[in-house]
Amino acid sequence: MGTRDGLDRQRVQALMAAERADYIARHPASARLAATAAQHLLFGVPMHWMNDWSTPFPLTVREASGARFRDADGHEYIDFCFGDTGAMFGHAPAPVAQAISRQATRGYTAMLPSEDAGPVAAELSRRFALPYWQFALSASDANRFVLRWLRAATGRDKVLVFNGCYHGTVDDVFVDLRGGLPTQRDSLLGQVHRLTDHTVVVEFNHLPALEAALAQGDIACVLAEPVMTNIGMIPPQPGYWVAAQELIRRHGALLVIDETHTISSGPGGYARAHGMRPDALVIGKPVAGGIPCAAYGFTEDLARRVERAKRSAPPGHSGIGTTLSANMFAMAAMRANLEHVMTDAAYRHMFALAKQLAEGLRAAIARRRLPWCVTQVGARTEFQFAASAPCNGSEAHAIMDSELEQVIHLYLLNRGLLITPFHNMLLVCPDTTPGDINRLLSVFDACLHELRL
Ligand code: PMP
Repeated sequence: MGTRDGLDRQRVQALMAAERADYIARHPASARLAATAAQHLLFGVPMHWMNDWSTPFPLTVREASGARFRDADGHEYIDFCFGDTGAMFGHAPAPVAQAISRQATRGYTAMLPSEDAGPVAAELSRRFALPYWQFALSASDANRFVLRWLRAATGRDKVLVFNGCYHGTVDDVFVDLRGGLPTQRDSLLGQVHRLTDHTVVVEFNHLPALEAALAQGDIACVLAEPVMTNIGMIPPQPGYWVAAQELIRRHGALLVIDETHTISSGPGGYARAHGMRPDALVIGKPVAGGIPCAAYGFTEDLARRVERAKRSAPPGHSGIGTTLSANMFAMAAMRANLEHVMTDAAYRHMFALAKQLAEGLRAAIARRRLPWCVTQVGARTEFQFAASAPCNGSEAHAIMDSELEQVIHLYLLNRGLLITPFHNMLLVCPDTTPGDINRLLSVFDACLHELRL
């Protein structure tokens, strides 16, 4: 077998077989529950992609609190995945639990604004320096709605995204560069529209490609994560965003920053922390402490353009908004989360622990002389199978190694540590302790030892 990274692939596969056997032996209750559930759940799971974890069958969760959760077999885990960011401020944070308990007897949804709506929008404005807000139930929805508003406001029909991006189940973004050509992702199911007609894709960190695309004059907006986090982690090169924002503005396009993951950078997200000036911003997943909710904000100027677009359209369906969006329950949760959980103090704690984690991972990788790197974006840390972080989506795709990834994930899981599937991302939350980090580091080190020798 090949020895990419100097790792013996037969050794990787033998370790995987041992870890799978161990998982099966340790999880009889999860196995039983999975078998029973499969009688009525399509694919055996409530969401088909839950089968794509490294485990032989899904791990069933019984309860979660703070930085920990327990499975149906009674094993306790330290969580570094936090529902891929949905629970990044800890599971069931007390202020959110209290707010939703209070709301539990006061109604959930009425298709009318609740008393929390105004204060929530005011707090979002303060944090993100954008004055006007709307809500959705998921970041996917929020991104979809923003694209609709911005196409309507600009009268331009194209959006520009970066190769390898992910912004949720937003059809427009599933266009990749393959051999330098925009190509619709072939894994999409049931997609009948030609996405390449209205989506332009360029590599991240490549200013000439961005400029050439914008110069066509038909791009309504650029939709981007400020650091790409969904194909491993791709940081912007120094000066990239300053120049990119200037180009976007010069060519009359708008910038939408999706902070759903990069909210790990600070209470106002990456854009605020790094002096970016987006026209619109999307935030989802953890904004209401894990209760389904998302929000998007506009500058004053964009808000006026969006209002004009709405006023000049005939009455009827806009294609924007869903019945339960901005419901009373989500608003109560979001208010409590913003006021009492996503605090400056919580971020200070998370940054210190993420630094401990990133430095510890780097040290373990260096000890084993592996050509891997570690990238930290606030409370979010990723290890990647290359000596330095990738510069764009093509590079990031090339270094992915799902066999290696899966064995590391399963090894950690069997020892009570959960990290984010489908890449190598670890989050810390306000309840994570230095001892939790030490435990992760020592098991990670043991895993590398097994793989390397
Ligand atoms: N934006 C980004 C940057 C994301 O990473 C994701 C999901 N991973 C989404 C949007 C979509 O979030 P959701 O699945 O909650 O709609």
